[in-house]
Amino acid sequence: MKYDVAVVGAGPVGTTLAALLAKRGLSVVVLERDLDIYPLPRAAHLDGETARNLREIGGWLDTPGWSLANEGMDFVSGEGELLLRMSSKHNPEHTVAQSNLFHQPSLDRLLRDRAAHYGAELRLGHEVTTIHDAADGVRVDATTSNGSRVLVDASWLVGCCGARSFVRRHLGVTQIDLEFNEPWLVVDIIVSGDDPHPPQRAAQVCDPIRPHTIVPMPGVRRRFEFMLLPGENPDDINQPDVIETLMAPYLPLGSATVERSAVYTFHGLITREWRQGRVLLAGDSAHQMPPFLGQGMCSGIRDAVNLAWKLTAVIRGADESLLDTYQPERSPHVQRIVESAVGFGRIICTLDPAVAAERDRNMLAARAANPADVGEAPQPSLSGSSLIVEGAGYVVSDGLLDGVVFDEVLDGRWTVVVADESVLVAADRTTLARIDAQILVAREGVVTQRILDNAQSDVVVVRPDRIVLGAGRRGLDALARAIDEFALVS
Ligand SMILES: Cc1cc2nc3c(=O)[nH]c(=O)nc-3n(C[C@H](O)[C@H](O)[C@H](O)COP(=O)(O)OP(=O)(O)OC[C@H]3O[C@@H](n4cnc5c(N)ncnc54)[C@H](O)[C@@H]3O)c2cc1C
Repeated sequence: MKYDVAVVGAGPVGTTLAALLAKRGLSVVVLERDLDIYPLPRAAHLDGETARNLREIGGWLDTPGWSLANEGMDFVSGEGELLLRMSSKHNPEHTVAQSNLFHQPSLDRLLRDRAAHYGAELRLGHEVTTIHDAADGVRVDATTSNGSRVLVDASWLVGCCGARSFVRRHLGVTQIDLEFNEPWLVVDIIVSGDDPHPPQRAAQVCDPIRPHTIVPMPGVRRRFEFMLLPGENPDDINQPDVIETLMAPYLPLGSATVERSAVYTFHGLITREWRQGRVLLAGDSAHQMPPFLGQGMCSGIRDAVNLAWKLTAVIRGADESLLDTYQPERSPHVQRIVESAVGFGRIICTLDPAVAAERDRNMLAARAANPADVGEAPQPSLSGSSLIVEGAGYVVSDGLLDGVVFDEVLDGRWTVVVADESVLVAADRTTLARIDAQILVAREGVVTQRILDNAQSDVVVVRPDRIVLGAGRRGLDALARAIDEFALVS
């Protein structure tokens, strides 16, 4: 059998992509080296856009206690002064919280189940060792956990195989290095006893004696992260008694047990080339960032959502140049976030007491001059392709339409929101029919009107990935040109 798409890696990005593709009716195989999910502590935060992206796959909202809405993150000095407050206020018009704390192994497991639910074939214990490029597809060589060799044929291959990506190495592409290499101890604990001060918000404690991070998590879990000091040995610090001492200022000794811990070196890296022929990269294979903004997995899931509808369209007959819009749209977006995460990392990881004192003075003065909280992670709009008109490229508004979650109304389809049917001329209707776009007439007081108000227009074109292509006549004309350029089909 030849699959439409082979995905290498069943981390959150590979399984999200597989679920989205299989849900659209494609034949998908996921080849995963390990037999079980990754056991060590990693992602703990996901933003509202990612929550919406995951909801398209289904399942997680029905999982009790899956996440904890987070109020935001404080940056605190070694002396406990508030240097900066990032706020994630819940917008009552929105259907998801802007900031959510969660347990990655639970999400990883759920995503595998959802991918399988839609018909993706998950082959665990299959390590991809060779990729042969062919004119009309790829042939993948995998070694199974019992040592046998398996060949898999697919029209397209997406490497979602993490930071050390085999597929990236196969392509021989290099990475832009933002030269951030800081080792941190990451610990998930289970609170089992007294907890006099349960944290309400995440905190980055910018203490030059030892920078550290505290993250509340759902249920009895809690995340602590401690920077390693120069000369410290990862094996010496990753010990239960050392961890207990490090946590003691926050939790009385004996009040918690360590569930899992690991030392990671955080990096800021962006892969230079995300596509060669029929092979593409997504997630940590394409970019890595320090976790200070909780955006690594969120960014990878944005890759999957961007790629899913484009791969589907190409497999159904659109021109494969559509896939050349993937990296130009995603890479500058993620680069801004990586730079931001590295920038915050440099603030947090300051060890020189004099430099830290000056940083604190500057940040306290800035907060005194402008005490307003700042928003969460910066989310730039997408740009860089003919599928986005200048000024658009943002995620369409969240909300309810007649009691139904608007994303369910969108349902992964091209959608045009209009103030009035008369906005569309006959040629527009012909254009929209070619891609089976749905037309929604806005009504006062509901999300459709907010979409028009945000764009200050009487018509807004929304892509299958909920990204606004453009507004007004420019949006409609750009869509018509894109349909011709990429031979888009319904
Ligand atoms: C301490 C820490 C905290 C973090 N916090 C956050 C956070 O709060 N929010 C956030 O959004 N992100 C966070 N991240 C980042 C997030 O964990 C990663 O971005 C995310 O897990 C990457 O997903 P992925 O699917 O691209 O790769 P991975 O999760 O690494 O999955 C890759 C998969 O590919 C498999 N594989 C590798 N090679 C092969 C091969 N040759 N053949 C077959 N399979 C293979 C691996 O076994 C693995 O299962 C954090 C990371 C760390 C380390």
